[in-house]
Amino acid sequence: MQRRLIFEKGAEGRYGYSLPDNGFKGFKLKQISKKYMRQSELDLPQVTEGEVIRHYTNLSQLNFGVDSGSYPLGSCTMKYNPKINEHIARQDYFTKMHPYQPIETIQGSLELMYNLEIALCNIFGMDAFSLQPAAGAHGEFTGMLIIKAYHEKNGDSKRNVVLIPDNAHGTNPASAAMAGFSIKEVKTDARGNVDIEALKASLDDTVAGLMLTNPSTLGLFEENISEIAQLVHEAGGLLYYDGANANAIMGIVRPGDMGFDVMHTNLHKTFATPHGGGGPGAGPVGVKAFLKDFLPAMRVEKNEEEEFVLTVPKDTIGRVRSYFGNFTVLVKAYCYILTMGPQGLKHASQTAIINANYLMALLKEGGYEVPYDRRCMHEFVLSTENIKKEYDVKALDIAKRLIDMGYHPPTMYFPLIVHEAMMFEPTETEAVEDVEALAKAMLDILEEAKTNPQMLHDAPLTAPVKRLDDVRAARTPVLTYKKA
Ligand SMILES: *Cc1c(COP(=O)(O)O)cnc(C)c1O
Repeated sequence: MQRRLIFEKGAEGRYGYSLPDNGFKGFKLKQISKKYMRQSELDLPQVTEGEVIRHYTNLSQLNFGVDSGSYPLGSCTMKYNPKINEHIARQDYFTKMHPYQPIETIQGSLELMYNLEIALCNIFGMDAFSLQPAAGAHGEFTGMLIIKAYHEKNGDSKRNVVLIPDNAHGTNPASAAMAGFSIKEVKTDARGNVDIEALKASLDDTVAGLMLTNPSTLGLFEENISEIAQLVHEAGGLLYYDGANANAIMGIVRPGDMGFDVMHTNLHKTFATPHGGGGPGAGPVGVKAFLKDFLPAMRVEKNEEEEFVLTVPKDTIGRVRSYFGNFTVLVKAYCYILTMGPQGLKHASQTAIINANYLMALLKEGGYEVPYDRRCMHEFVLSTENIKKEYDVKALDIAKRLIDMGYHPPTMYFPLIVHEAMMFEPTETEAVEDVEALAKAMLDILEEAKTNPQMLHDAPLTAPVKRLDDVRAARTPVLTYKKA
C-alpha cells in the first residue's frame, strides 16, 4: 500500500519499532488475536527512533522559559520554580489519590491544605483562605461574589458599583462585571497613587467596594493606603486586594494590616509554582473573620479529635471549583513556603525589590524614560514614547530585538495609562550579573534605534519564528497542520 508521508521527516519504509517473528527455540511469544489488530495501516510518518528523538529534542529547545534565561515579565512573576517542589508533588501518594476517597485515608493531604491556609493567613494578615480558585481571575471572581453576598445579607443590595483604578489588571473589571457589578474607574495621580479627590468623588452608598493592587501595576507602593482604606470603609464599601503578584510584600507588609477585607494571591506567581500556557494555577482567596462564613464550600477544618474534616460555611457562596482545587499546585506552593521560611520569603521580596530598582537605575542612566520616577517595588514601567517619536522605533520593536539577545520580552503596552509601556520584573532569582546583562542588552538596543532602526523593525532576526503579522494571525488562524 502506498502511504503518504505526513510530516517532512523520514522516508517510505522506515520504522522506529521492531517486532520480528521470533524464531528462537524453546519459547513462543503469544500472538495478538487477529480481531484486535488494525485492518488498515495507520497514516503516520515513517521515521526511525533516532529521527523522532531528534525532532522532539530540537522542538523542546525552541522553547524559552525561566529554566533557559531571564524572563522579566512584569506582573506575571516568572521566577525560578524549584525542582524539589516538582519532585514532591509528583509522588504517588499525591498523584494517585482520588477525591472521593474516604476522608480518613486522605488526612495527610487535608493537613497540607490546612497548614497552607495557616501559612497564607500569616503572610497576608487575613483570617481564613479558600484554596479552591484555579487562577487569579477566578480568585477575583470568588472575592467579588463574597462581597456581593455580604452586602446582600446586610440588606444593602443597592451597592452594585465596584471602583477600580485606571492602571488595574484587566481581569479586575472583568471579574467584577461577571459578578454582576458595574465598574467605575478611578484615576491615578501624577505620582502614580490613587487620585484621592477622584476617589472621594466616586464614593457613595452604591459602592460595594474598591479593588486595588498594592504595589500597583506601575510597581509603586500606594502611599495613601491607610487613608484610602478609611475612606472606602466609611462609605460602607469593602476593600479587595489583588495580590496576584505579591512578590514585593512577603514578610514585609500585609494586606490585612493595610485594611483590606478580601484578597487573592496567585500561587503560580508569588509562590513559585510554574505557569504559562494557561495553567494549571491556583488563586486562593483570603478574608477577614467577618467574611469567613461566605467562603466557598468545602473548607478543611479540625474537629475536637484533631481529625481533619470538610465543612460548609454558614453563608457560603457555594463551590467555585470541583473537589479540592488544583491540588498539586497547592503541594508545590506549600513546599516553597516551607523551604523558604518566613525569613526566606522576606529575603526573596527584598531581593526582588533591589533587582528591580537596580535595573531601573541602569536603564534610566542609559537614557530610557521612567514616567513615574520614584523608587519602585518588584517591578517598574518604562515609556519608550520618546524613542518612538525620535527614531520611529516602537516598544514592540525593542521587545522583539530582546529575543535576539536571548531574553524573553517584558510585559508590553500595560498598564494602559503609560504610552509605549514596557514593564520589567527581573525577580529575585536573577543574579546581579544577569540584571546587568539585561540592562546592557536594552542599552545596546537603544544604540541600534539611533543607528539602524530598520533592523529593529525586522527583529527578531535569529529566532526560529521571525516577526509575525499579529493581525493576520488573529484574523486567519491556521489551526491544523498541513504538509507544505
Ligand atoms: C496575573 C494577574 C492577575 C490574573 O491572574 P491569572 O492567574 O492570570 O488569572 C490578576 N491581577 C494581577 C495584578 C496579575 O498580575
